[in-house]
Amino acid sequence: MIKKSLFVIALVLGLVSAAVWQRHRILFDLLADGVPPPLLEAAAEAASSHWHDDYFLVEAIDSRTYAIGEPLYHEQNFSYLILGEARAVLFDAGPGYRDIRGVAETLTDLPITFIPSHFHYDHVGNTITFAHVAVVDLPYLRRRATANRLALNWREHLGTAEGVAAPTLHVDEWLPVGNIIDLGERQLRVLYTPGHTEDSISLLDVGTGYVFSGDFIYPGPLYAFLPNSSMRDYLQGSDTMLAAIPDSADILGAHRNAAPGLPRLSQRDVADLRAALIAIRDGKAEGHGIFPREYRVNERIQLLAEPRLLQDW
Ligand SMILES: [Zn+2]
Repeated sequence: MIKKSLFVIALVLGLVSAAVWQRHRILFDLLADGVPPPLLEAAAEAASSHWHDDYFLVEAIDSRTYAIGEPLYHEQNFSYLILGEARAVLFDAGPGYRDIRGVAETLTDLPITFIPSHFHYDHVGNTITFAHVAVVDLPYLRRRATANRLALNWREHLGTAEGVAAPTLHVDEWLPVGNIIDLGERQLRVLYTPGHTEDSISLLDVGTGYVFSGDFIYPGPLYAFLPNSSMRDYLQGSDTMLAAIPDSADILGAHRNAAPGLPRLSQRDVADLRAALIAIRDGKAEGHGIFPREYRVNERIQLLAEPRLLQDW
């Protein structure tokens, strides 16, 4: 009888730990329906922007910096085309719902290097190919790449949410963390800002103080509960960004939560994020909801995390 009870207890514990271990996959499969949601209705946009066609919205931030928005896609992505004298960088490529490469090529004749802020399906362009691709140089990515071909896996891509297959990137250039990308008369520093994912980077435009922050920070709910999210990393990423950027930094994120305008933040918002993370870590922040648990960062930003017990501090 005792043996049987022990067996049942072991079985239950085993099932619970398997469910905890596989929680991301289970939740993802439950929540995502595998097809992209319908496009949004076009809203009134800022006078500083113009429609490239019936899908892409372009805004010249200055004469050498463009935001290319996909405001009808439900995640309202913004990718950035950054021009130097010798080459250009396209930071993020959206979900590949339409061909962003064609838009970028109408804005510059310079050779374009595509750099993903991270590997989620709504940033890598998926079926869109680029002549030149540069990726953050992290040891585990290098190890996985054979002949500089990096096959993205489910955890880092998550394309099953919208029925998108994970692409294989041909990596032409590995970007060491902290190094400068020289575009010719324009320099971008690679900041390693994990948290949302372990492969997330931001780019600091050294001359202008623009910070292209990907999904690390933008106005709206930040996702810190995904399969390769980490709260500890998020705090480290906040420290890294705060140490690297100027007080006057003009932060440009990868998503906005409402029209009109660009997803634009300031150094103060990163400081608020860092303070919120420390308060969560120390058990001093109040959250609500179960999964994800929502914490307030400030009036424009929320942080969505796992329940306290599952947070990896
Ligand atoms: Zn993401």
